[in-house]
Formats: sequence, structure tokens, C-alpha cells
Amino acid sequence: MKVEKRSAEEITTIGIGGIHDIFYPENVKELKNLVEGGDFFVLGGGSNVVIPEVLEKRLISLKLFRNFAFSEETLTAGAGVTLKEILKEQIRGGFSLFEHLAGIRRATVGGLIAQNAGAYGFEVKERLIEVKFLSFESGEVEVLKDFDSFGYRKSPLPSLGIIVEATFKIKKDARVKEKIAHFVRKRLETQPPFYLKTAGSTFKNPPHPLPPAGKLLDQAGLKGFRVGRVGFSEKHANFAVNYGGATFEEFKELILTARKRVKEKFGVELELEVKVPCKI
Ligand SMILES: Cc1cc2nc3c(=O)[nH]c(=O)nc-3n(C[C@H](O)[C@H](O)[C@H](O)COP(=O)(O)OP(=O)(O)OC[C@H]3O[C@@H](n4cnc5c(N)ncnc54)[C@H](O)[C@@H]3O)c2cc1C
Repeated sequence: MKVEKRSAEEITTIGIGGIHDIFYPENVKELKNLVEGGDFFVLGGGSNVVIPEVLEKRLISLKLFRNFAFSEETLTAGAGVTLKEILKEQIRGGFSLFEHLAGIRRATVGGLIAQNAGAYGFEVKERLIEVKFLSFESGEVEVLKDFDSFGYRKSPLPSLGIIVEATFKIKKDARVKEKIAHFVRKRLETQPPFYLKTAGSTFKNPPHPLPPAGKLLDQAGLKGFRVGRVGFSEKHANFAVNYGGATFEEFKELILTARKRVKEKFGVELELEVKVPCKI
């Protein structure tokens, strides 16, 4: 199995953390051996993850799970296939699937499903037909076909197991290229520019009728607030940005300060959307 040293910038979009050994299983058997070998954390494209410099867990990437096939009505892709690759295929084949998510860097099939990613009224679960995952309970690949337990930025994965492949419904759409461009433009109107290092939304939006997390952070005076080299974007207060060389400790302090201030001002406990493979 391939094991390679990778920097934080190579494995996460926010680029915080040190250099880590990344395990790249090539098939389910290798994945199973890794899972049985001790504590681990599964990485997708690292676009919603922040990793500390020292981690007592193996980092597993499913980047090599790259099977890809589509028919008139379905698309089947391995966990490591990227959103970018799917969008390219959507343009080439003229079909609708993930256009609402266009502009999210590096996200993969595994991470999109685990987070039930969504934007502009769309959620990944709407298009799921089935998800194949290596079950922690049985140690075998099982198939999930019922997505009722999926919700806002949540799914039963990775608690249940590791996604290895998924099949999605696709629909013919001759205007998909325009739609992709539309959603990229829309994203850039409110979110930090693509060249900034961020892990997307830091906190989940609290339930209705409470205002979104970005608004609460803004009103608590945290828009543009920094701890060392990491801070909340001037453009969107819920996006933590690494302005260069930020440490995990700085990120942690930013999070704890934000939570405290929002709690004091509004009585709201903000829940992390980004995944952190350790206690924070
Ligand atoms: C600029 C920017 C904008 C963003 N905008 C949005 C947005 O509009 N909407 C939105 O929903 N998200 C958004 N995100 C967050 C992020 O892109 C999504 O959550 C995405 O789905 C994460 O995919 P990933 O492959 O990068 O997963 P990672 O970030 O690597 O992992 C996310 C979680 O998924 C788990 N996971 C990954 N692969 C697997 C697998 N094979 N099996 C089981 N679990 C797995 C990880 O363990 C982790 O818990 C944004 C991020 C950025 C950087």
C-alpha cells in the first residue's frame, strides 16, 4: 500500500497542521486491514477538515478509489472521485447533478456524502440511490439505500463505516454549463475568493428561527477577528481563513473565543461544521 508524507496544504484546503503520513489503500481489503490496525481518521479532499500538527491516528485517504461510470439516469463513482471531475463530466455529458456545489475546491464523493453537502436549496442526499460502505460492525461492504437519517450537514457516515462508492440519479440538462457558471458567480458574491485558504463554513447554522452562524458571528463583532495567523473572513464571518502559517492552537483559540462570545451575546451554542480529528 502507498504511504506518503504530505503537508497540511496538500491534504486540507485550510492548510493548518504539520506533515503527516497518509495511507492510500487501493482496494477494500487494504482498507479493511488499515481499519483493523488501530485508530484512524478518513480524509476526503480535506475541504471541511482541520488537522492538528500532532495526531495519534492514522490518516486514510480514499483518493485511489476512482471507479467511474454513468448511464442515461445514473452515475456511479468511487469515494475518491472529485467534485471537479464530476462537474467536468456533467458539462461533457450535459446532465444535472452537483451544479449547486460548483466552486467548492477539492471535495470528493466520500466527503460530499458524509457531510451531506448542500447549497442554494440543494443537498447531496436528494440524488443518492445507494452508498456502498465498509461497515465497522460487520467488517464487510454493505449497501445503504435509505437516506432518512441524513440531515443538514450530517449523515450516519463515517460513524457507520467508510464510503467506498456511491450511485447518484442524474438528469439530462442541456443548460448545465450555464448553471455551473451561475452558481460559481453566486458563491463568489458572498464567500472569500478561491485563493484564500479556508475549510468552508466553520460552524453549522443553528436551527430556525435563529439567524445563520455567519450573522451571529458578525453581530458578536467577529467578522475579521483574528488569532495570530488565522481569522474570520472580512467577507463572510463563518469562514475561518489561514492567512499564512497558522497553527492548530491558533485555530482552536479562534473557535473557543467565537463560541464563548456568541454564547454570551445570544445564548446560542455554535456547533462545529468542520471536522477536527481530536478534542477541541
Ligand atoms: C471554499 C469552500 C466552500 C464550501 N462550501 C460548501 C457549501 O456550500 N456547502 C457544503 O455543504 N459544504 C461546503 N464546504 C465544505 C466541504 O467542501 C464539504 O463539506 C465537502 O462535502 C467535504 O468533502 P471532502 O471530500 O473535502 O471531505 P473532507 O473535508 O476531507 O471530510 C469531511 C468529513 O467527511 C468524512 N469523509 C470523507 N471521506 C469519507 C469516506 N470515504 N467515508 C466516510 N467518511 C468520509 C471525513 O472523515 C470528515 O468527517 C466548502 C468548503 C470550502 C473550502
